[in-house]
Amino acid sequence: MPYLSEVEPDEAGLDLAGVCQRYGIAPESMIMMSRNENPYGPSPRVREILRNVPLHRYPDSSLFLESLAKYTGYPEENIIIGAGMDEIIITIARLFLGQGDRALISVPTYNVYGLAARFCGALPVHQPRLPGFEVDPNIPEGMKMIFLCSPNNPTGNLVSEETVRSIAERTEGIIFLDEAYAEFAEKSLLKLVKDYDNLVVGRTLSKAFGLAGLRLGYAVAPEWIAEQYRRIAPLFSISSLSLAAGVVSLNDLEYMRQTVSKIILERERLLGSLKDVNPSQGNFLFIHTREKSSLVMERLLSKGVVIRDCALFPGMDDHCIRVTVGTPEQNERFLRAYLESE
Ligand code: PMP
Repeated sequence: MPYLSEVEPDEAGLDLAGVCQRYGIAPESMIMMSRNENPYGPSPRVREILRNVPLHRYPDSSLFLESLAKYTGYPEENIIIGAGMDEIIITIARLFLGQGDRALISVPTYNVYGLAARFCGALPVHQPRLPGFEVDPNIPEGMKMIFLCSPNNPTGNLVSEETVRSIAERTEGIIFLDEAYAEFAEKSLLKLVKDYDNLVVGRTLSKAFGLAGLRLGYAVAPEWIAEQYRRIAPLFSISSLSLAAGVVSLNDLEYMRQTVSKIILERERLLGSLKDVNPSQGNFLFIHTREKSSLVMERLLSKGVVIRDCALFPGMDDHCIRVTVGTPEQNERFLRAYLESE
């Protein structure tokens, strides 16, 4: 596969055991601030329910769909589900992209869009963002798909409603708007799906709901896309355990909102304690570093703090890092380690 050489290794390539050995750190005292997970985990009701899930039957997604319909305000006909949003991104790319098609990606952003396009033989077209990492609403012609991310990973800013509307009105392509971090943001554009027949909004239970390990994603799509999606999507890719956890979590919104509020408070505190940092609508902060980001990352690793070096994001320079907002104690440890070495 010729494109494999361009695929970034992600933090999965990081040899954490080696790092611990190199710096004499106990693995359990490393803090992970590199994957935008929720440090508080899921609703406590999740563990209780898992014991009672029948394991000899194929998974039944009806209650999960019902709960998502309630949560999103859209009927089940508009909802598609997958084993994490990554599976949805890859499946929807398979649905709409073929050999030689072009897919627009506003960089820097999440790397899976480019990968998904390449899996299908399509060409990712990288469009640089405007100052402030705003999405350029003037998109080139002939795009089969347009990927947008709001709040954007890694920069943390939103795409404006006007920009999404103007793109949706001017393109025949399919727009995939990734709202993985929507619950941490002031604004979601989920309501726009009603207005356009070419707009899909992707969501996940990996972030605000603290269920990254159980792989639960969904998207709200126009009915014609949802119907086609269901024909090609893997049939039983979400396990019964995950579906049950999803139902319980969506019915304990109080818990999710509490953890989200704690994270937002900490996000703002961190923002106030750092220089050269972007305001963020996600559960992470994007920081410009004085030194090369690889050096900053290594120094933080030596102190047991794992963050994300953004140098490998297409369209990004080698002086920026992304840090997931953790618990107050984790954030203190990060701040101490980062500011000491500044
Ligand atoms: N979109 C964005 C912007 C993300 O950051 C992530 C996870 N890192 C995903 C999608 C994928 O989430 P999931 O765990 O649901 O596959």
